Amino acid sequence: MLRARTEGVSPQVIVDRYHEQNEKSFARFGMSFDYYGRTSSPVHHETSQDFFKKLAKDDVFTLKSEEQLFDPEAGIFLADRFVRGTCPSCGYEDAYGDQCEKCGSSLSPEDLIEPRSAITNATPIRKKTSHWYLPLPKFQKRLEKWIGSHPEWKQNVLGQVKSWFNDGLRDRAVTRDLPWGVNIPEDVAKAKNTDASGKVLYVWFDAPIGYISATKEWAEQKGEPELWKKYWQEESTRLIHFIGKDNIVFHCLIFPAMLMAHGDYVLPENVPANEFLNLEGNKLSTSRDYAVWLDDYLKKFDADSLRYVLAGNLPETRDSDFSWKDFQARHNNELADILGNFINRTLIFNQKNFSGKVPPTGEYDELDRELIGKLKDVPVRLGELIEKYQFKAYTREFMDLARFANKYFNDKEPWKALKANNEACATTINLCIQTVRTLSILAEPILPFSARKIWKILGISENQEWDKAGELTLKEGHELNKAEILFSKIEDKTIEPEVRRLQEAAVPSAPAEQKEETEMDKINFDTFKQIELRVATILEAEKVEKANRLLKMQIDLGTEKRQIIAGIAEHYSPEELVGKQIVVVANLEPATIRGVESNGMLLAATNEEGNLSIITPQKAMPNGSKIS
Ligand SMILES: [Zn+2]
Repeated sequence: MLRARTEGVSPQVIVDRYHEQNEKSFARFGMSFDYYGRTSSPVHHETSQDFFKKLAKDDVFTLKSEEQLFDPEAGIFLADRFVRGTCPSCGYEDAYGDQCEKCGSSLSPEDLIEPRSAITNATPIRKKTSHWYLPLPKFQKRLEKWIGSHPEWKQNVLGQVKSWFNDGLRDRAVTRDLPWGVNIPEDVAKAKNTDASGKVLYVWFDAPIGYISATKEWAEQKGEPELWKKYWQEESTRLIHFIGKDNIVFHCLIFPAMLMAHGDYVLPENVPANEFLNLEGNKLSTSRDYAVWLDDYLKKFDADSLRYVLAGNLPETRDSDFSWKDFQARHNNELADILGNFINRTLIFNQKNFSGKVPPTGEYDELDRELIGKLKDVPVRLGELIEKYQFKAYTREFMDLARFANKYFNDKEPWKALKANNEACATTINLCIQTVRTLSILAEPILPFSARKIWKILGISENQEWDKAGELTLKEGHELNKAEILFSKIEDKTIEPEVRRLQEAAVPSAPAEQKEETEMDKINFDTFKQIELRVATILEAEKVEKANRLLKMQIDLGTEKRQIIAGIAEHYSPEELVGKQIVVVANLEPATIRGVESNGMLLAATNEEGNLSIITPQKAMPNGSKIS
């Protein structure tokens, strides 16, 4: 709506444009959908209105009358992104009414300091309106029981859900005063003696219902209009939501509560949500053009390279960072130097010395048998990783197999064996070609375009069975096509403009000197000496209101008492911390976090799974002891 207003067109024009752009970009990245739906479709409007109607009829909602921010110039209520102002957590002056893009805090419009309308810049006034609320507290017990039956979910997801439960769920408004969206059915409003005019469903009420609507449209398109029920109303369904962490609350709590209230649908089986992917050390922002656009990317690079780098660097359990330098390094050092090199040298050697036909095998030695064993085991292991949504580990272990294959080629020295023992050389090359085939099948989920290229070179069909990925199926004498370079190196001069463009687009006042996680700069001893690390004891600890992750602690530093804030509430309860000795950076500038002052920082270790452990001296030490 905001963009439509800026461009002077209707919202429909904007949604049509992005729907088409996104659909095309997905296809160009080798991502296919059974059905690429949209929530502006008539089937969706009807499905979500029926859903709302059923819940209203069953008296699930609570109607509340309240004051909300209103833009007197535009004559419109200002919810979510329609209002901007200063973030109460970090002081960023251009935060949205639902979230601060700088520090990531989730906000409500009332939290903003000096709010202004995102439409007209006018100062909002408060105006009375009424809204429909989903009373989540009534569902908390059922939700807790249901989530409790899924201990296999990812720890970062369970951790976030648990902290929502600990804080106690609150009623959520499921309607908004907006001119765009799914209208509240008038008859439903009338039956409750309220007015539906100008009111639409909150986007996060109807968006997940969109999954049902899309299934309906897909079934209709297939000519089996009832088929959608098989997916939404039968126990055998495994409903999986692939989302980012900011949507955990909608997919693990609000939508399931809606489904429970409705009663006709299955609940999610798993919600393997990812954390955030940052870009060159800063948060992505499409509205500020601090992003990598797929269209631009494809003008310079291959889809597979980005797919590979993202799969290997997914923020599966904690935030991760995409940097162009890392992209270049992983493309060059892994895709080109390991995978591409192994495939290329195998095929070239075979072309030259066995006229492009799969050579015969003789007797296997120990190294041959080790390779054959890996070809059998790795696909099973990778299959399990996919089932567990561990795509990062998948990518790593896939490349490990290519690394092993490269080493196998080196150790066997087929160029020497060629003259001395032609049979051994033929066996080596036969097994290398079988390995190329195994790798191509395992590559498909992350490198679909390269997999297809390899199948073409190998002269095999695109319907390779996963279960046979590790078998030696290529027969002696099978003719291969001419090899081609799969991955050419990316040069510095290609990468540099991309880095520069992002530096220029970076959010003003964001730390520009942030380093990539992989790049470890050395510091000298004098720099280290500037950091004053001291032992302290925690005297008191309590939760920070409205901040799930934060604990406020009073600590004894020997010479003084201080207050510090730390993001450890998901890992430690306040009770278990009192009396513990910790290590703090004592000379850190004071900071105000969520309106609370923090005078120092405690040290803690974290791992890839998102576990956290505070650092404590191995023996009790007097408070204030210096660490060096
Ligand atoms: Zn902020």
